[in-house]
Amino acid sequence: MIYLDNAGTTKMFEECLAVMEKYACHSFFNPSAGYEPAIRVSQDLEGVRKLILNKLGATKGDVFFTSGATESNNLAIMGSRKNGKWNYVFSMGEHPSVYNVAKELAMQGFEVRFVKLDNNGQINYSELEKCLDEKTRLISIMYVSNETGAINDIERVNELRKKYSPKALLQVDGVQAFCKIGIDVEKCGVDFYTISAHKFHGPKGVGALYVKNPQCLKNIIYGGGQEKGLRSGTENVAGIMGMKEAIEHIDENKNFKHVCNLKKVLCETLSKDERIKILDVGSPYILGASMLGVNGETLMRVLQDKGVLIGKGSACSTKKAGNRVLESIGLNNEEIKSHIRISFGGYETEDEIKNAGEIILKTYQEIWEKVK
Ligand code: PMP
Repeated sequence: MIYLDNAGTTKMFEECLAVMEKYACHSFFNPSAGYEPAIRVSQDLEGVRKLILNKLGATKGDVFFTSGATESNNLAIMGSRKNGKWNYVFSMGEHPSVYNVAKELAMQGFEVRFVKLDNNGQINYSELEKCLDEKTRLISIMYVSNETGAINDIERVNELRKKYSPKALLQVDGVQAFCKIGIDVEKCGVDFYTISAHKFHGPKGVGALYVKNPQCLKNIIYGGGQEKGLRSGTENVAGIMGMKEAIEHIDENKNFKHVCNLKKVLCETLSKDERIKILDVGSPYILGASMLGVNGETLMRVLQDKGVLIGKGSACSTKKAGNRVLESIGLNNEEIKSHIRISFGGYETEDEIKNAGEIILKTYQEIWEKVK
C-alpha cells in the first residue's frame, strides 16, 4: 500500500508509542497533583511547551495543550471575542475549524469579513487591505492550505495589520506547516498559532495553541482551571509526550528537500498526459490535480483497490457537495469534480512515488476510456 493522503493524517512514528506507553502506564500521574512523581510529569509538559516555543522562534508567550487544531482554532477565535463594534477578518481558504467558527460569529451578530483568494491559492492581499480597519479585532489566515498547499505570506499580512489594524490580533492555522515549513512567529507578529500532532506523525487527539499574550484570551470551556485557566480538563499527558517525540524525530530540512524531489518526480509522471491539470502552488507536501473527464471520487476508489490511497479534497469536507476553497481559486465545476489531492508524509521513497505515479496515470487513462 502506498499512502498519499498525509494532509489528512499521517502514520504515527513507532517511537511515539513507546513514549506514550511510558506516560500512560508508568508515569501516569495527574500533572496537577502535588506529589513528586506528578510534579515531574508537569515539568515534562513544561519541556514540551519550551520545545514548541523554540520551534516557532518564540522567546516569549506560552503554549496551551488542546485536543487538536479544531479546538485550538476555536479557542483562539472564540476566546478573543470582544464586546463593542469590532470586526473579524477571515480568508475564504480556511479549514472548517476556522471557517465554521467565523460563520458562528456572524450568527451571533459579530461583523465578519471574508477575504477572497487568488488563482494561486493565496489570499488576495489588496482585498485583505480593504477588509482591515481600526476596529478589526482578529485576522485569521492559515499558513499552508490543506486543500491546495498554497502558502500565505504571513509577514506581508502582518505588515498590512500594522498599517491598517494595529489593534488586531493575528491568528494563524499552522497545521499543514508545523515540522514541515518553518515560521518565526515573532518576526511575523503572530498572536496565535495552531498545531495538531497527527499531521506530523504524532498521535491523534492532541495539539496545541501558541499564544503571544495570554491576557488577550478568555477560556471557552469551564472547569478545573488547568492550562492556566485557558483549557480546563486533565492534560492528555501520553499524547503530549508522544507529540514531543514526533517533533524531535523529524528532520524538517532533510524532509523538505526530499519531498521537493518526490513532488517533481510525481509531476513529471502525471504531466505525460495533457488532460491532467496539475495544481502545484506552494508546499511541496501537497499536490493537487484535476483529472479532467474522470470523477475524482471514482478515481480515488479505484486507486484504493490498487493499493494507492489519495485524497479528494480535505478529509473533513469529502461528504459535502462542492468545494468552497477550489471554487474561490477559480476552478470550474469540471476541474473541481475531477480534483484529487496527493500529499506526502516525507518518508516515501522515490521508487514508491514513481510507481504510484504510474499507477495513478494508468488508472486515470483506463477510467477515461470507459467513461468517454
Ligand atoms: N486546520 C487545518 C489546516 C487542517 O488541515 C486540519 C486537519 N484536516 C485542521 C485544522 C483540524 O485538525 P484536527 O483534526 O487535529 O482538529
